[in-house]
Amino acid sequence: EPEFRDVIVLGAGAAGLMCAIQAGKRGRRVTVIEHNDRVGKKITISGGGRCNFTNLNAGPGNYLSRQPDFCKSALARFTPWDFVALVEKHGIAYHEKKLGQQFCDSSSREIINLLLTECEQVGVEIRLNCRVNEVRKADRFSLATNTGTLECHSLVIATGGLSFPKLGATDFGYRLARQFGLPLTEIRPGLVPLTFASGDSRLGDLSGVSVPVVARSNGTSFEENLLFTHRGVSGPAVLQISSFWREGEAVAFDLLPGRQAAQVLAEARRESIEPEALLSRFWPRRFAETWCARYAPAKKLPHLNAHELKDLASALNAWPVTFPGTEGYAKAEVTLGGVDTAALSSKTMEARQVPGLFFIGEVVDVTGWLGGYNFQWAWASGNAAGQFV
Ligand code: FAD
Repeated sequence: EPEFRDVIVLGAGAAGLMCAIQAGKRGRRVTVIEHNDRVGKKITISGGGRCNFTNLNAGPGNYLSRQPDFCKSALARFTPWDFVALVEKHGIAYHEKKLGQQFCDSSSREIINLLLTECEQVGVEIRLNCRVNEVRKADRFSLATNTGTLECHSLVIATGGLSFPKLGATDFGYRLARQFGLPLTEIRPGLVPLTFASGDSRLGDLSGVSVPVVARSNGTSFEENLLFTHRGVSGPAVLQISSFWREGEAVAFDLLPGRQAAQVLAEARRESIEPEALLSRFWPRRFAETWCARYAPAKKLPHLNAHELKDLASALNAWPVTFPGTEGYAKAEVTLGGVDTAALSSKTMEARQVPGLFFIGEVVDVTGWLGGYNFQWAWASGNAAGQFV
């Protein structure tokens, strides 16, 4: 005898749990299926263990999608303030770190507890260690699992993207979309460290050094820190720009944000020092040494000719670095692309051609910037579907 539920949610992450809560509040009988032995593993490690659970500035402009307007409706119906209200209701202490980013004071576990408490209050069943082997649709959806057969009217896919496979990420959502004939957009790692060409060790000894920059690629820029790693670069500026950059392209780094390098050089022109000494005033010394050894003439400033000054100034305000690749899904915070939003209702997240089938969270082709935007999409899209399942 198959068990029947009004709603089955696949994936007990941020989006799935929020959807379950909202559906439960409407009196729907909901089961959440999770193949891990715990819910929300990504929430637990997020934000360095403190979960950057939303961003007060979140708006459609902070998301990448083939249809940039798709996210508008859901974001408008569940705002960052709605999630903050929930955090306050549960007595969780939080703070703004920078740029609208909200973090727990103590631990991301508190966000997990918030979600589990809300689920419990509305009678949501959570089934851990549960694997779905097959999904079929007749009048109802029928799911063959290792805990028996389950049937439901509404099936919500909240299995996330491919990032961090060690936390249980799978391509289940994409495969299910394909099974039901939904189009997918190109999928690739986002918010990911970029790597130098192998064997390119010219900047290798800078690992651990952090420099404030403006990173630019394909018409978008972010002013944040650049962090050198053993194999390439990371830090918020790089993670942000990585979502706009394409494999093999260059990123231009402005190494003197907010300053015209030509003017900085002109003002220091009469000082009898080398560029390295001047730039050490703005940068960590190790970076000034390494960068100047490679990109600045080994001459004192008064001896630089007009041509050398111009080249140096342009390298300082737009240092182009070509990256052949990234650290991949193993270290990507998100997956860009996913279920094509053209196939979904922006109001309900339901597949237009498959009544009863919903896609929410990261599996959808809506990807946020770094800084709490991805959880905000998970909450907002989960809420949207939760009103209609
Ligand atoms: P997930 O949270 O990934 O949940 C999907 C769930 O589905 C998982 O529990 C998974 O185990 C389960 N699942 C997968 N396949 C199956 C299957 N076949 N059967 C059953 N269950 C399955 N975003 C922010 O906004 N702020 C942050 O501070 C932040 N920090 C991050 C730090 C790291 C290291 C990473 C990797 C990501 C971070 N993100 C952050 C991004 C954010 O975690 C995700 O965008 C968000 O969790 C997506 O929510 P989701 O519910 O769609 O997917």
